[in-house]
Amino acid sequence: MKYHEEIMHRRTFAIISHPDAGKTTLTEKFLLFGGAIQVAGAVKSNKIKKSATSDFMEIERQRGISVATSVMSFEYQDILINLLDTPGHKDFAEDTFRTLTAVDSVILVVDSVNGVEEQTRRLMEVCRMRDTPVIVFINKMDRDGKNRFDLLEEIEKELSISLHPMTWPINSGKDFKGVYNLYDKNIRLFTANTKADEEDTLAISDIDDPILDTRLGSPDAALLREDVELVDGVNGELNVADYLAARVSPVFFGSAINNFGVKEMLDTFIRIAPPPQSRDTSTRKVDVEEEKLSGFIFKIHANLDPKHRDRIAFFRVCSGKFERNKYFHHVRLDKDVRFSNPYSFMARDKSIIQDAYAGDVVGLFDTGNFKIGDTLTEGEDFYFTGIPSFSPEIFKEVINKDPMKTKQLEKGLLQLTDEGVAQLFTQFGGTKKIVGCVGELQFEVIQYRLLHEYGASVEFRALPFYKACWLTSKDSKKLEDFGKFKQVNTGEDKDGNMVYLAQSEWFLNTEMTNNPDIEFHFSSEIH
Ligand code: GDP
Repeated sequence: MKYHEEIMHRRTFAIISHPDAGKTTLTEKFLLFGGAIQVAGAVKSNKIKKSATSDFMEIERQRGISVATSVMSFEYQDILINLLDTPGHKDFAEDTFRTLTAVDSVILVVDSVNGVEEQTRRLMEVCRMRDTPVIVFINKMDRDGKNRFDLLEEIEKELSISLHPMTWPINSGKDFKGVYNLYDKNIRLFTANTKADEEDTLAISDIDDPILDTRLGSPDAALLREDVELVDGVNGELNVADYLAARVSPVFFGSAINNFGVKEMLDTFIRIAPPPQSRDTSTRKVDVEEEKLSGFIFKIHANLDPKHRDRIAFFRVCSGKFERNKYFHHVRLDKDVRFSNPYSFMARDKSIIQDAYAGDVVGLFDTGNFKIGDTLTEGEDFYFTGIPSFSPEIFKEVINKDPMKTKQLEKGLLQLTDEGVAQLFTQFGGTKKIVGCVGELQFEVIQYRLLHEYGASVEFRALPFYKACWLTSKDSKKLEDFGKFKQVNTGEDKDGNMVYLAQSEWFLNTEMTNNPDIEFHFSSEIH
């Protein structure tokens, strides 16, 4: 229990949303409350906006922003909050999914006008897979959104979660008057652009208090009373254990841009969100209170300066104490490594740190030693499990346009795939290199970076595959035969695992039926 206090002092989470729902705006308000920034507008969106002709410099610039804002640490009410940023663009969904393995809880932002959107669905699937506790923030209540009851029903149904309202809106759009806090039983009246420190609560003795009629007008007061009776009757008090077990999600209404309803949520978050949790590994569960260090790399980011080939590996501490200049065991390489300049992400500055504890994210300078999923320990051999590598959806053959730069190309491809930008497959019976990505935009990023960081010029040729499946079998002869007969459609990933590239769902189903001794996996877990 040596580090008990340090652990209980921390909360590590991510804000997730479909692009444009208000994630950046909400993040900024959190940082204002935490005193990490002083003025609004200081947090830049890391959205990749794709114009008609892709602007590579823009991608580069935005990558810079996303390094700077990848982790934001700040203190609020004596709790150290580590907020992990996730790119909203769907082409970078893999990055987001992996970041979700490094957090203990999540805040999901939903746009009250658009309701549940594509990315909301995909992100929540990952949260459900991992039983991550989720708080929901329904944003943009100052706009004419969907009916509050319909919206809750839509979220519950579409995301298969159970919601528990913590605040309740009084109208929306032009008539939005504020929220009733079902927990503290008071009202916050809506004023645009509430300052972070401003308290604009209306204390009421109970929901029947006549002051409601004076301040809201009788029809709105009556409607609120009706709503509250209904909601309270159904829900009662939030069961925190249910929230922690991801069985129920507290929900708040507000307007991030107006900093309205945000403090209620942050205060509740501080009160109920889980501290760093124990985690599963390939051999055993690592208790968060263990004194020996353990943790894993969940993200790798190339250095922005192309002259420096070093990268930044993001390391989530899962137990024990990380110390500067101390030797730790790199499990995959079976080698001891130490770090002279590990840094933390307090406020918006990167600063060298001396130590870090469970829940913290440390930035490690890396010259090519790390891959996503790598584990550091104090000697024990295990890997943290559940770090997904998703099945790519678009496949292209790499055409080397400059044979003099073959070596650079190979190195570049390996390093970029270590970063998790894409997956690389080599076709059996040939040397055809195939890159698989989740989104089109990533091919442009790869092409650009290969040229600018490695001097290798490539083109991509589209291939007619639609899915990659990782193959395993108890009968190795069956696998070998499958590979021989299906040369064009089989290959290996860069770790030597056998992969089947299917042209269509029909082919895939046929192969699955014809080969009952072979198992087809749709996402390879990195560990
Ligand atoms: P992200 O893509 O999820 O990070 O979304 P942003 O935070 O960048 O917000 C997208 C747009 O919605 C921006 O133009 C914001 O100014 C706007 N926005 C954010 N919160 C609110 C809100 O509460 N009300 C209204 N009307 N607009 C908002």
